[in-house]
Amino acid sequence: MACVAGMCLLAIVTKTPTVLSAKSVADPLSRDRRITQRARLAPVDSCRSSDATPTNGMDLSQTRTASLGFPRPTTFGSPASLNIAVLPLTFSDLPYRDSDHTALQAAMREFKRYFEAMSYGKAAITYQVVALADAVRMPDTARSYGAFGEYIDLGRVVQESLNNASPTLKLSSYDMVALEIARNDSVKFWPGAYTNSIETPNGRVGGSVLAGGWQGANWRAIAHEVGHVWLALEDLYDHSPPPQYDGTFWEYDLMNSFRGSAPELTSWHRFLLGWLDDAQVRCISEATSRKTTHYLSAITDRNALPKMVAKSLSPGRTLVLESRRNRGYDKLDDSVLVYIVDSTRRSGDGPIEAKAELTLNKGRKPRIDRYVIPVGSSIRVEGVTIRLIASSKWGDLVEVVQS
Ligand SMILES: [Zn+2]
Repeated sequence: MACVAGMCLLAIVTKTPTVLSAKSVADPLSRDRRITQRARLAPVDSCRSSDATPTNGMDLSQTRTASLGFPRPTTFGSPASLNIAVLPLTFSDLPYRDSDHTALQAAMREFKRYFEAMSYGKAAITYQVVALADAVRMPDTARSYGAFGEYIDLGRVVQESLNNASPTLKLSSYDMVALEIARNDSVKFWPGAYTNSIETPNGRVGGSVLAGGWQGANWRAIAHEVGHVWLALEDLYDHSPPPQYDGTFWEYDLMNSFRGSAPELTSWHRFLLGWLDDAQVRCISEATSRKTTHYLSAITDRNALPKMVAKSLSPGRTLVLESRRNRGYDKLDDSVLVYIVDSTRRSGDGPIEAKAELTLNKGRKPRIDRYVIPVGSSIRVEGVTIRLIASSKWGDLVEVVQS
């Protein structure tokens, strides 16, 4: 019996070593008498808001490759599994080395660990790092593709690398392919995602990502880009040049910043992906009591406790509360994070906006960045007052009053 993350786990190794059957002894705060019973909350479906990004009259229901709402895009596979090939590219002016390959294998182990943690074990990740001898010899120089500048010719790199890959690799049998260029600090291109499928002489490949250079063997860069293709997630940062990673959401969420200190995926993303059970989502609406009280278990902890409180504000806009803790992949001050998912804003236009970090720590200073996130024990957001009542190491008790 091991006690971690507020849960005493009776671990029984079943068919695969990663599957644990857990008997939990939860945080006493999660059984507080003030908590509003589930039966008195709104149905979870009332929180499944659609994506309201303007489409200029076009019907994107069959072609949309990224979204912040429901239903999820259908152009790729399922968030329940990913089988990915990882293909090194070598150029005459930027050779791929043995040391790059060793680092890439380590990065992919982290990549797998990250998504298994974010999905609470609901996503099965398999990957194959192609042998160094099968690295693709690219027909042109890295410079000619624009690898030394900020914007590489992604479409050309994807097409020419897949055209020149060995047929014995059977790349079309994978869900997608991650392309990797050697680590080199002078190679400054931004990693990219190619969300369309690609026809090759050896079959169709479902999608591709490209990373490397200054972000060589960085699992976070690969995972961010794969998040666009596999999971149809949007960019949360501000695309307007130069990229502002503290645009509207500080460093929260890997889809916001792959270099930040809070890469745990938000509860909203996990809800979109089916990685939260309905029992972990607490929805409120005008139809529920004016005052409700909720326990939020830290999103980083793998358990069956509630992870998100949400209220639909208007079509495509949702108020969300979640508990963040300084563990897992996050390095931050503990708080209840209050934010608005605003899908009327486009991907790359700050579609999630932090409203507050709630804490009972009176000494904590507001987070001052380009964007200021208020800090305190309560906040009023769009007619909703949210008050942090109590906190433990494992989660928070919040009171929500709708006016
Ligand atoms: Zn991105």
